[in-house]
Amino acid sequence: MTVADALRDRARALGFLACGVTDLEPNRHGAALDRWLANGYGGTMRYLHRQAAKRKRPAGIVPGAIRAVVVLENYYEPAPPAPAGPVVRIARYARGRDYHLELIDRLEELAAFLRARGATITRCYADGGPVPERELASRAGLGWIGKNAMLIRPQSGSFVLIGSILTDLALPVDQPLETDHCGTCTRCLDACPTGAIVEPRVVDATRCISYLTIELKSAVPDALVPRLDGWAFGCDVCNDVCPWNERFAEPTGRAAYHDRAAIRTDDPSFFDRMTEAEFEARFGDTPLERPGLARMRRNVANAFRSLGQ
Ligand code: SF4
Ligand code: SF4
Repeated sequence: MTVADALRDRARALGFLACGVTDLEPNRHGAALDRWLANGYGGTMRYLHRQAAKRKRPAGIVPGAIRAVVVLENYYEPAPPAPAGPVVRIARYARGRDYHLELIDRLEELAAFLRARGATITRCYADGGPVPERELASRAGLGWIGKNAMLIRPQSGSFVLIGSILTDLALPVDQPLETDHCGTCTRCLDACPTGAIVEPRVVDATRCISYLTIELKSAVPDALVPRLDGWAFGCDVCNDVCPWNERFAEPTGRAAYHDRAAIRTDDPSFFDRMTEAEFEARFGDTPLERPGLARMRRNVANAFRSLGQ
């Protein structure tokens, strides 16, 4: 068995949906990243400006690394039945355990596999650091970047998380997936509640509900609150409407992503009654930890306002 086959087997055994390898040649979308930043679409995420040079030239991220091993993780969970009446919505990936925690230990196990085969550099990233993960994933043959700017795997859709390991092990690289399978479809652009997908593959984060509910520390602009469409954390709309997900998304087998039903989504005061200590105990290991209690209160209030409550 080749090292590449053994790597894929190991990734599968660790529960990953798919695994591919690519080099660290300059990002094919570097100029598009520059335009995106220059247009101010990154909003307050200043770290993206600081990371831009490395995102455009991933060989500069970890000196000595020459390959990226990229894995996909399926987090798809069918939507639970909603209670009657107005309810706020939480993005699928945030209804269970924090995916960073869920991914990183298994990425480290895959890194140990690489070291056992001679790698001396193995740096793991789970949606962190200056790694252009979607670009690397598509170059590793794992999917194409759809008009919703998500990585879409032809066999399973876009409810996937991306993890990567930068390494000096000279693994054979996979063929990139060059075909754009979106064709003439525009469902995600048409369905986005805030019009954040300003052109195919270009999302103005300052209008995107994910940014507004997770990254933005200040108040959500008044003009956008009515368009939140009930979302209190993240937004699944441009994934939900994608025909590739309708046809191919399969429920994840990983219990960590199962809906804990931990939030009373029909209760506008759910977070208002909670202390910081209680929030930490109940949500400290979930993605809701990122905005924290104060912003979850803001988010739930805004989400109910958007529902006319
Ligand atoms: S996550 Fe929601 S708000 Fe953001 S681009 Fe997709 S549909 Fe639009
Ligand atoms: S909804 Fe249509 S246009 Fe958007 S990503 Fe999916 S296939 Fe592409």
